[in-house]
Amino acid sequence: MNLDQTAAIVGSLWGTAVGDALGLPWEGLSPRSQRQRIPQVQGHHLILGRGMMSDDTEQSCLVAQALILSGGESGRFSAALALRLKLWFLGLPAGVGKATALGCFRLWLGFNPDCSGVFSAGNGPAMRSPILGVCYGHNLDQLRDLVRRSTRLTHTDPQAEWGALAVAIAAHLAASQPQATAPQLWQQLQQLLQQALASTAPSATLNQFWQLLDRLPLALSQDLTPRQFAADLGLSRGVSGYINHTLPLALYSWLCYPQDYAQAVTTVIHLGGDTDTTAAIVGGIVGAAVGVEGIPEPWRSGLWEWPRSGSWITRLGHRLGRSLATNSPLAPEPLFWPALIPRNLIFLVIVLAHGFLRLGWWLVHCLPR
Ligand SMILES: [Mg+2]
Repeated sequence: MNLDQTAAIVGSLWGTAVGDALGLPWEGLSPRSQRQRIPQVQGHHLILGRGMMSDDTEQSCLVAQALILSGGESGRFSAALALRLKLWFLGLPAGVGKATALGCFRLWLGFNPDCSGVFSAGNGPAMRSPILGVCYGHNLDQLRDLVRRSTRLTHTDPQAEWGALAVAIAAHLAASQPQATAPQLWQQLQQLLQQALASTAPSATLNQFWQLLDRLPLALSQDLTPRQFAADLGLSRGVSGYINHTLPLALYSWLCYPQDYAQAVTTVIHLGGDTDTTAAIVGGIVGAAVGVEGIPEPWRSGLWEWPRSGSWITRLGHRLGRSLATNSPLAPEPLFWPALIPRNLIFLVIVLAHGFLRLGWWLVHCLPR
């Protein structure tokens, strides 16, 4: 059954948040190290069986607020997102990527939003783009423009932009055709992406991008598991934050389980590496197909967050849905921002404690005796 657009938006935002929180405790570990600690990820493991969201979800929420404020008008969107990124950066978000941090810093220095980004092909723009696809996938020109503006605030390497666009189109297809099979989804993704990139000047980098994506249908036809596909791409020790590593494995995990949130997200987490971001991307795509109800309830209630709580995320999604339905800008969803300061401090302490526990585990189990 197709969800209405608001339900797809709420599902995508929740999917991003839960994937991010589930993947965060395993970030930076190889699949082998992950298995040594836990045979299978089946729930939250950050603190006392609860999970918290990181920069991936926060940036998706900033994009949603910028869309509400701008009504999708690209100049206003760009300005609204730039201002939100600047304010968000003041809160010293733990785990923010280097290029995103530099982009925010350059915005504070007064750089124009069109040229504040740095030349990087990291996965920052892709982590915040599923929501763009769910909202504007029906209008490819507008989607391309919004993805470009969102990307260039922090990243200027065209590969970062193409990867973010592919993720946005995937989320649009998930929301609009939740019952489609993997080959159908791949075919349409390829078609829409070709259309969106038709005016892009041919280059060796673009050829490399297409060659990379061409490996997806091949892997599907060979019935490879995501783990086998990762090994095929030389990523058996984990998926890095380079977009050309993140993108094929996020898309493949979605294509293997387009209607199964739990499988898709745990599968990509089990591939190791940048697990909070890969799971946030896959979660944002599959969440748009299955809606909130398709995300396991214990994973939703296991989110430990405030002031961007689960109910706040739901309200944010509903407000964005209203803005799209009326095709007009609205005031942003109110957020009790002073609470972000203690929240971010607590989050930082928990992440640091997690790092020390990990180090302790490694000293006990891995040092030669
Ligand atoms: Mg993160």
